[in-house]
Amino acid sequence: MIPAAFDYHKATSVAEAVGLLKEHGMDAKILAGGHSLIPAMKLRLNQPELLIDISGIADLKGIKDEGRKLVIGAACTHGAIASSAEVNKDAPILAITAKTIGDIQIRNKGTIGGSIAHADPAADWPAALIAADATIEVLGGGGSRTIAATDFFTGIYDTALEEDEVIIAIHVPKVSSTFTSAYAKFFQPASRFAIVGCAVVMEMKDNYCVSARVAFTGVSDMAFFDEKVSSALAGKSLNDETIAAAAAQAAQGVDTLGDHFASEEYREHLAKVYAERAIREAIA
Ligand SMILES: Cc1cc2nc3c(=O)[nH]c(=O)nc-3n(C[C@H](O)[C@H](O)[C@H](O)COP(=O)(O)OP(=O)(O)OC[C@H]3O[C@@H](n4cnc5c(N)ncnc54)[C@H](O)[C@@H]3O)c2cc1C
Repeated sequence: MIPAAFDYHKATSVAEAVGLLKEHGMDAKILAGGHSLIPAMKLRLNQPELLIDISGIADLKGIKDEGRKLVIGAACTHGAIASSAEVNKDAPILAITAKTIGDIQIRNKGTIGGSIAHADPAADWPAALIAADATIEVLGGGGSRTIAATDFFTGIYDTALEEDEVIIAIHVPKVSSTFTSAYAKFFQPASRFAIVGCAVVMEMKDNYCVSARVAFTGVSDMAFFDEKVSSALAGKSLNDETIAAAAAQAAQGVDTLGDHFASEEYREHLAKVYAERAIREAIA
């Protein structure tokens, strides 16, 4: 399938990309890895008149250690994050999650910024970033700001980004060796997107859970922090009974998605099953 005609500009700086977005408004789109935008253009679901390619901007590509946090450039690929020694050590939930995305070609081209801007309800990054308590740094015509990952996703393919804003980086608090993380995912067998994905980050003292952050993707029209499961884990000694009780709270009060992959009832069931798997995997 062939997309509608468009102009192409390779930006050399973030300021240039923001300037072009401001000038062209809804007619322009940022191009990062192109693995979501180009298929949408081929299907003519998206028909931008101008593509602003940010893949050559070096500032958007690094992973920096800033003391208490890692700052991951928006144009870092899933593969670069999966294999980063810093991420594996200081924010392991991100490395664990990145390794489950698509296949090797997708991981080598797709970017974290592109994935979260696209905000597919079945994408993996949103759950990991919410569980990691990350914040998103953006720059637009009105200047720069940061948005908590918990507030960033606002609906199906919808985010808190303004039209002229570009995602610059993802700020992720580092965790110490007392933290443990896991991502349990029920894969869509062809694309490997998450029919249900559950990310867990817990601080443990032996088998006592000091704090927990549990987040889901795929279950609803957007990824969400599961307050009920997280609070059911925090302050408890984790054993079969307390883990099962916490997992049973999964996705309560959430408007569950139903589609040809999984009905609403099945997704509700999967949320509980995958919460329990993620918690157990994190402990193991
Ligand atoms: C076959 C296949 C399998 C896949 N499997 C998975 C999977 O298992 N899990 C998963 O999570 N994803 C999966 N994906 C999606 C993949 O991860 C995409 O790469 C990702 O969603 C988009 O990233 P991108 O860099 O390609 O963005 P692009 O396609 O270039 O852009 C996507 C959108 O984000 C905007 N954008 C890009 N970068 C920025 C930025 N810095 N600031 C503001 N807006 C920006 C663009 O304008 C566009 O609207 C799959 C895709 C394919 C084709």
